[in-house]
Amino acid sequence: MSECLFCRIARGEIPARKVFEDETVLAFHDINPARPMHILVIPKRHIESLQTATEADEPVLGHMLGIANRLAEENGSPDGFRVIINNGRVGGQEVSHLHAHVVGGPEPVGPMLKRN
Ligand code: AMP
Ligand code: ZN
Repeated sequence: MSECLFCRIARGEIPARKVFEDETVLAFHDINPARPMHILVIPKRHIESLQTATEADEPVLGHMLGIANRLAEENGSPDGFRVIINNGRVGGQEVSHLHAHVVGGPEPVGPMLKRN
């Protein structure tokens, strides 16, 4: 069994505040929210990042994006939201199980990135 943190959340071994679940994806509140709404959407099956995802993963990748608006509307961000996926060292990924951050709230989330 994988010791991966998000695999363990997907298996129910570690608690999470779930907001959506179906056969292939799970969504739950980020433990350290950066905005009033901060939800993580993960594939239940372990995919490390978009660096290692294959063509076979494209349906679940599409599904992760396809449910984002519904998650935002149902969790306090009905007027738009942002999706962020960090990948690998350069992308600043800390948990090595692919996850989309869906962030928002009543107010705009702010500039996309600080310019160097
Ligand atoms: P990233 O830097 O893109 O890998 O994001 C990892 C995210 O996972 C961070 O926003 C963390 O706050 C979040 N996180 C870490 N552990 C947990 C956990 N047990 N439950 C929910 N979110 C978590
Ligand atoms: Zn995993």
